[in-house]
Formats: sequence, structure tokens, C-alpha cells
Amino acid sequence: MIKFEEAKKIVLESAKPIGKEKVFLEDAFRRILAEDIIANYSIPPFDNSAMDGFAIKSEDTNKDLPVKLRIVGEESAGEIFRKKIDKGQTLRIFTGALLPAGTDSVIPQEEVEIEKEFIVIRRKVRKGENVRYAGEDIKEGEIVLEKGIQLNSTHIGLLSALGIVEIEVYIKPKVGILATGEELKDLNEPLLQGSIRNSNTYTLIAQIKSAGAIPLNYGKTGDNPNEIKNIIEENLNNCDIFLTTGGVSVGKYDYVREAVESIGAERKFWKVAQKPGMPLAFYVLKRENKLKYIFGLPGNPGAVMITFEEYVRPLIYLLSGRKNYLPQEIEAKFTHDLKKKKGRLNFIRVKIFFENGEYYISESGPQGSGFLKTLANANGIALIPEDVEYIKAGTKVKVHIVEW
Ligand code: AMP
Ligand code: MG
Repeated sequence: MIKFEEAKKIVLESAKPIGKEKVFLEDAFRRILAEDIIANYSIPPFDNSAMDGFAIKSEDTNKDLPVKLRIVGEESAGEIFRKKIDKGQTLRIFTGALLPAGTDSVIPQEEVEIEKEFIVIRRKVRKGENVRYAGEDIKEGEIVLEKGIQLNSTHIGLLSALGIVEIEVYIKPKVGILATGEELKDLNEPLLQGSIRNSNTYTLIAQIKSAGAIPLNYGKTGDNPNEIKNIIEENLNNCDIFLTTGGVSVGKYDYVREAVESIGAERKFWKVAQKPGMPLAFYVLKRENKLKYIFGLPGNPGAVMITFEEYVRPLIYLLSGRKNYLPQEIEAKFTHDLKKKKGRLNFIRVKIFFENGEYYISESGPQGSGFLKTLANANGIALIPEDVEYIKAGTKVKVHIVEW
């Protein structure tokens, strides 16, 4: 049986971004940037006032206080006062307004007294007080955003301040989903005795969306190799990744491998020394000169969600051009003992918390592969290596932070 690290390497080894496209700024939120963004001008573009107040020459306050300065006019944000301010003069100014020529500082209006056409200043003002200098935030020519990041709302604000309306982003991968199993009932079907709800399709749709890809739901089939084959065959051209769930183990009704192999896909591995998710199968196939990735995910909901996080999400990230494609990893101390069998890496669903400068974890509930509640209570996956049998409370282990 192949080990987790090796299997993951095989999944990720050939993955490259699938392509680029241009989108408008309004549609760029959460997309992956496919170009470095260089500031085409400085921000702020000009020296301006940080307050509502009076623009002055600071040296006018370098004498016996109080001083009186003559108000020669007014300039609001967006206006330009074209005359130079001389010694003994001041210009009333508002936040964001261009600092007028001849001045070097702004005194807030609350700090002066107005006497007809004069202001009275009772303190010394430093050069540069309440001035926002050109380029203080961003300098023209500076690389402000690097390709491979996911654009959040701060990035959108920055792009708009730079006047960039069209942005090059990576194309979102499309991920097909097919649930298999005679016992599965969809949400609109009556739940008969012996049947269960098809939950895998819905968790996968959500995980695919959370990974920034496009889910394509091809519904469910019974345990029927022809049906499985036909659905994959018909839809593969439209997908970058195809996920099946269930039917990939060694049972009499497990037909997924047979179906995937019959369309000519190359098996890269089947069965990984891990728990949950041991029966995981992975294939690649070329269609119209494009590489297609097919995962035979297990059927158990816990195994599906965890193998998605550990294998499928990083693959989606690489196909999407993300610079950071691996799960965020921390080291954390178990708050309790843990026993496991040797031979397989265990993914333990855990709750992570932070105390006195350290991360701690505890199991989020019973770890059965099928349990959904334990998943819902977890915000991390602890990785307990193959050869470990016993973990004592206080032992540090690797943990992946999950964003289900
Ligand atoms: P299998 O690998 O097909 O033997 O499935 C393993 C377990 O996962 C069985 O208990 C199935 O009933 C369950 N299972 C399979 N597919 C789904 C699904 N789409 N949603 C929820 N549970 C499933
Ligand atoms: Mg089955």
C-alpha cells in the first residue's frame, strides 16, 4: 500500500494552472490573481490634509505665541487653490484637500480661534503635522500585489484606488461529482428502510465552492458499472477533476474502478495506508490534450471530507494558480492520550484551541469514518504517523487547519 506523502506527491506532481482570463474589478473578489500588480501612480497622488483645519507655514509658529495669521481663502477636497500662501497667511482647508503651495502643515480647526479674517494659534506647530504625503502609502512603480494570491476585500480596495478596472485572474477549475450506491436517496426522495441520504454530493459541492472551483453535480447512480462509466464518459470533457464517491473498495458491488479503467484512465494508485480513506483511488487521463484527474473517493462521509481536504483541495489550488496550495500546518499538543493501530497514518478530527502561547487539540468526537457530527465539531485534522501506536497527552503532532 502506498503511503500518504507519496500518494499526495503523485496527485500534485504534474498540476499546473489551467488558464487565465480577464474579469472586471467587481467580479474579482476571491479570484486568484494571475499577474503582478504594479502601481501606475503613487497613493496618495499628492500631499494633502489629514484634517479639517488651516494650512500654514510651521515657521510662523516659531515665535512668541499666540500668533495671528490672515485667512486668504478656502479649499475643499477636490479643489485647487492656485495662489501661493505667504508668511503670515493661512488657507482654510478640509480633509483630503491638496496642501497649498507655500505651506507645510495643518492645524486642526478645533485648535484655533477665529477672529474675523484671522486665526489665533496658541502652540508651536511641527512641520508636516496633519499632512499626508504623496506616495506615503504606495509608491509609483512598486509591486503592490503578487500573482497567486486570492483577492480579498482589501485587495479590491487597493486595485480600485489604483484605477485598475480589468484584472487577469486564473480560470476556476470545474469539478464533477457523481455519488454511487444503491442505498442512496436524494433529498426529494422518500427515505425507505435500508436507504440513506446522499450527503456526500452536498458536502463536496460546498467544499469545491470553498476551494474556489466550480462544482458540477452529476447526481447519483446505483452500483452499476455501465451507468457509472457512461456518466463519467459523457461529462469528463467538461471537467478538470472528476470525483466519484463510494463503490471503490473491495466489496462485491464496488464497481467504480472497473468503470474508470474501462474509459482508459491510467491508475496512479489505489489504496493508501491511511485512516479514514484507505480505498482512495486516483487516475489521470488525457482528453483533447488536457489532463483530467479522476478520484474514486470512498463512500463514508468522514473519509470523503478528509480525503478532499488532503488531496483534492491542494490539487484544485494548484490548478487555480494559487501560490499557497498546501493546508496550513501547525504543531499542537494533544490534551489526552490516544491509541491507534500501527500501519496506517490516522487523520484525527480535532478541535484546536490556543492557550498560553501554544496550540492544543482534542478529538472532536468518535472517529468512525461515517460520522458527520465529529466532522462538524472539528476545525483541524491531526496527522498521526503510520508507525505510531500510542500518543501521550502533551505530545506535539502536526495538524492541518481546515476550512471545510
Ligand atoms: P462504499 O464505499 O460504497 O461501501 O460506502 C461506504 C459507506 O459510505 C456506506 O455505509 C455507504 O452507505 C456510505 N455512503 C456511500 N455513498 C454515500 C453518500 N453519497 N452519502 C452518504 N453516505 C454514503
Ligand atoms: Mg457502496
